[in-house]
Amino acid sequence: MADVIATCDVAIVGGGPGGSTLGALLRKQGRSVCIVERDVFPRFRIGESLLPFSMDTLGATGVLPKIEAGGFMHKHGARFVVDETLEEECFWFRNGLDDGHPMAYQVQRAPFDKLLLDHAVELGVKLYQPLAATGFRVEPDRAVLATTGGNIEAQIVCDVSGRWTFMSSQQKQRRIHPSHRKITVFGHFRNVTRCEQDPGNIIIARFGETKMGWFWLIPFSDGTTSVGVVADSAYFRESGKSPTEFFRQSVASSRSIGPRMKNAEPCGELRSEADFSYTSERHVGDRLIKIGDAGAFIDPVFSSGVFLSVKAADMAAEKIAKAFDTGDLSEKAFADYERMVRRGTKVFWAFIDAFYNKDFLNRMVTSRRRPLLQKSITSLLAGDIYNENNQLISYLTGEGGAYADSEVAELLG
Ligand SMILES: Cc1cc2nc3c(=O)[nH]c(=O)nc-3n(C[C@H](O)[C@H](O)[C@H](O)COP(=O)(O)OP(=O)(O)OC[C@H]3O[C@@H](n4cnc5c(N)ncnc54)[C@H](O)[C@@H]3O)c2cc1C
Repeated sequence: MADVIATCDVAIVGGGPGGSTLGALLRKQGRSVCIVERDVFPRFRIGESLLPFSMDTLGATGVLPKIEAGGFMHKHGARFVVDETLEEECFWFRNGLDDGHPMAYQVQRAPFDKLLLDHAVELGVKLYQPLAATGFRVEPDRAVLATTGGNIEAQIVCDVSGRWTFMSSQQKQRRIHPSHRKITVFGHFRNVTRCEQDPGNIIIARFGETKMGWFWLIPFSDGTTSVGVVADSAYFRESGKSPTEFFRQSVASSRSIGPRMKNAEPCGELRSEADFSYTSERHVGDRLIKIGDAGAFIDPVFSSGVFLSVKAADMAAEKIAKAFDTGDLSEKAFADYERMVRRGTKVFWAFIDAFYNKDFLNRMVTSRRRPLLQKSITSLLAGDIYNENNQLISYLTGEGGAYADSEVAELLG
């Protein structure tokens, strides 16, 4: 029998943005919280462009002044480009349906994740690092998290382990998105030419119509820029190239990114990942909740990952508070959380499907002529995905309803 190393209300697996945010919010409720993080921070992580609608949750934890003091790059908008035609449009967050979310940050995740985790610890989270979670079980009166250092007994265990999907993997509940197999190759570079309208904007450039892929350019305040290519796995395999050669060739043949990378110097080795879109059969169980990438991950074209993770942490914290109040920690008590998470993922998936549709991107980059469409797109890009007044959401998710003949539908149709 393993030693019990800690007892707490909530045990969290993973000290990334989702885990730290959840820990901080629960401490603000007065709960006792343990976070188990297996890596030593600071450490590299991809996922560097934040969305404005994350700022509310980060504000609620009290960490925003520290992020601002950290000197991260301000992000006011997103620029989308069609590589073949060089048609493009900048979407400014201040012009969304909701005008209260004008900016976010571009962050190197090594210092950013450390800052969030340190903040959670400052609020009283007990951090076990480096320590890996290895298993879990649920008993009638507790949940037990097994780690390489011993057991942690908690009332609730939350899995915020990112794309390692600690719980879903053990439960065999992870499902890779079958028609969305992608590879990505990325790195940090010096001397990349940034967005001319605002050097803090992210640039997304799609190439090869719907079949091939897209680039991201994410500028940092130290002058370096994160550049990545995401491509269809089949297209990558057919190229017969190594990931690094594939990246170089993609950049060289790009009309929009090639010139921006003309004088670029890599800051280190390129990295790659594959098959990174999946979901989980269930997001909750008795005394169990999965948050962020641990539950689902979708194509990163709209920089939604950190937002979805901290937003889910926010929604989970609210349901956990209620569960402790009522004494009901069963799967049923968290059903509404699962519904909200699935809703958010569905909205982004619909938007992502549209991006991979040639005609939609063409309409996106010419949307200046269609002010309502542009506002609606801007809101989605900011992360305003639960906004019931956004007609584009109803249109993209096929929920039409009252909006079936709306102005947005007409503009897109
Ligand atoms: C190519 C690509 C580009 C992306 N670009 C963006 C972007 O621009 N913007 C954006 O918002 N998102 C982006 N993302 C997504 C982003 O990386 C994630 O959505 C985000 O990091 C999720 O945060 P998290 O806290 O849920 O998980 P993570 O950040 O993955 O944190 C999970 C933590 O859990 C720890 N852990 C894992 N297993 C265990 C264990 N067994 N025991 C203890 N600890 C454990 C890990 O060490 C890690 O620190 C991108 C993803 C990809 C693949």
